[in-house]
Amino acid sequence: MKPYVSALNATLKPVNVLVRDMQIEPQSFDRVLSSMCTEPHPVARKAAERFLATNPGDPGTYPNVTALEEDAIATLGEIAGLEDPAGYVASGGTEANIQAVRIARDRAETRTLNVVMPESGHFSFQKAADVLGVELRIVPTDDDFRADLEAVRSCVDAETAMVVGVAGTTEYGRVDPIPELGEIARSVGALLHVDAAWGGFVLPFTDHEWHFGHAAVDTMAIDPHKMGQAAVPAGGLLVRSDDLLDELAVDTPYLESTSQATLTGTRSGAGVASAVAAMDELWPEGYRRQYARSRHNAEWLANALEKRGYDVVDPTLPLVAADLPRSTFDALRDEGWRISRTGTGELRVVCMPHVSREMLASFIGDLDRLEVR
Ligand code: PLP
Repeated sequence: MKPYVSALNATLKPVNVLVRDMQIEPQSFDRVLSSMCTEPHPVARKAAERFLATNPGDPGTYPNVTALEEDAIATLGEIAGLEDPAGYVASGGTEANIQAVRIARDRAETRTLNVVMPESGHFSFQKAADVLGVELRIVPTDDDFRADLEAVRSCVDAETAMVVGVAGTTEYGRVDPIPELGEIARSVGALLHVDAAWGGFVLPFTDHEWHFGHAAVDTMAIDPHKMGQAAVPAGGLLVRSDDLLDELAVDTPYLESTSQATLTGTRSGAGVASAVAAMDELWPEGYRRQYARSRHNAEWLANALEKRGYDVVDPTLPLVAADLPRSTFDALRDEGWRISRTGTGELRVVCMPHVSREMLASFIGDLDRLEVR
């Protein structure tokens, strides 16, 4: 058992009383540099509020939000190079990843199964493996933090149901060699899942090969509530063809619709509506501009840290990792900066849409001040 409750209580104690009195403000984004979520676009916020009391899990009762969900999947398909897309708006990348593993498990012909994933894969796959009873085989990454193809090749076998590639890793923003991973998956009859939960809304403006049009991708996680600037909860599960979604369907006897493919039952129409609103507003030009802005910010930050003598992992997508002494990291957190560390202890800054150059300059100003002491 992990010490989850005691750790959480240690974090929450000082604010509990305020929460009870409703005297608490939601987190301001002013100093948030670690999150993969962001301030929703104003049109997304408005749409979320409007559809807050709708439930796309019950299309017979809430047909309008169901129609919006079809729009959402059509645009997600366009972004991800998928003609005739199928899928749904999930609660986030975790649900999409769990569901993708579920599809692979249910399609496989053997009873003992494994999923092969680079060590850069998100921890949601551990939940998937745990809940679905499949073995998760974790293979190393190469010197550039991308899936090591030789390691993947020697790990797959006849019982591999799925190979995972990440298009925009959580810690370093790396893009795995997706076409090659697709070939490996095919060689053993496995499905290829691409986790583009964070990267999916910036990768269309890069040269990376990551989507359905570039490789034999079967399923994908792509989240509007991250770089897509929709309100939480708005994740995306895309699948190459309807029959893959059919693997998830269960009968829904008391509803007017006949079956449901989502993991959750009742779910928020807010996520669906805000995803549609954000994508209508921003795809593609708004996202392109945002990507350019985030990329320049990441380059500026990487440069500023390098100039100060820190080892920086060269950013490929707008995410910067750098070796900072633990004491400096802690001092910055004490100043109110919401920063986090990679598994090996590097500072990690995600240049989300709410992260401005002024914010980064103020962060570097604090860093200089603290390092002088
Ligand atoms: N996949 C990747 C690559 C992520 O970075 C994350 C979260 O940051 C997830 C999946 C999980 O997404 P969520 O927290 O929305 O469930």
